[in-house]
Amino acid sequence: MKTSIRILKVFGIPIELDISFLLLIIFIYVLAFFNIIPLQLAILITLVFATVVIHELSHSYVAQKYGVEIKKIVLLPIGGVAQMSEVPKKPRQELFISLAGPLTNVIIAIILYLTYQFTLTLLPGFISNFILEFMLVNVVLAVFNLIPAFPMDGGRVLRAILAERMDYLRATEISVSIGKIFAVIMAVAGIFVNFFLILIALFIYIGADQEYKSTIVSSLLKGMLVENIMTTEVKTLDPHITIEEALNKIFEYKHMGYPVIEDQKLVGIVTFQDLSQSKYNKNSMIREVMTEDIITVSPHEEVISALEKLNKNNLGRLPVVEENRLTGIVSKTDILKVLNLMRNKVQ
Ligand SMILES: [Zn+2]
Repeated sequence: MKTSIRILKVFGIPIELDISFLLLIIFIYVLAFFNIIPLQLAILITLVFATVVIHELSHSYVAQKYGVEIKKIVLLPIGGVAQMSEVPKKPRQELFISLAGPLTNVIIAIILYLTYQFTLTLLPGFISNFILEFMLVNVVLAVFNLIPAFPMDGGRVLRAILAERMDYLRATEISVSIGKIFAVIMAVAGIFVNFFLILIALFIYIGADQEYKSTIVSSLLKGMLVENIMTTEVKTLDPHITIEEALNKIFEYKHMGYPVIEDQKLVGIVTFQDLSQSKYNKNSMIREVMTEDIITVSPHEEVISALEKLNKNNLGRLPVVEENRLTGIVSKTDILKVLNLMRNKVQ
């Protein structure tokens, strides 16, 4: 389902507004219309979001220079998200991409400050104040984004600086730990100062943790292909056997999912859940309960891409198919086992 509306393209990057964001903006202007909030505030909020887009565009612009593909920028009520293909793990490039956003806010703040100074005697007071408020928002955005903790830009800046001196994984580990310490201090401060700080701390803590996990996984699995880890001796089932026969085989083989093969072609996949929860009687054929809409991987695909497919579709295993023929099967358990082995090897 499409939940965002495209509004314009800059540097060839589509900018989209999420429905929830549109509703928020409409809501803000409705409040302003009924004088519940000042119109000035509604305009300021709109400008803040425009600034967020410019911030994301700056990241994207520099990233594009390094050959990173930018799919789109989506505006959500919590801020902007630039959807890009994997950011290069070259520290210098990551540093410039991450700095571009906050730097843009600093530049906007300077321009607004100069405008404020030079027009102070010319403009009505409320407009001058407005310019000053908008400047402050940009200062806050720059400072907030430079907090040295993931998922903030500052976390990436810190990692990039560290990664110039050590390997990428170690640099990630250290910056993640610093980010978590930061989050804990912020949460404790939040108890005494402002409850809102605790929420931000939580956001930082979770972000740091996610960054750590995904970096570990992608660096350990780097360059590893599905064919290196797949199981080639696959137990398969015939679509014409009954549910009862299939269940007997499952108890014999002790796997949870099976490719269904007919005339040497993969026609479906059937899991223990499909069979045990099926509303059909035990004499029905398994072709009636199997999933025909199958997601597969190629043996030459990277393991990391197989893992993405498994996670995205909430699956336990993927059939490995080359030229319409089943050559193996790869399960999440297989990948996790490999990850554990690699991790022990590294330590
Ligand atoms: Zn940013």
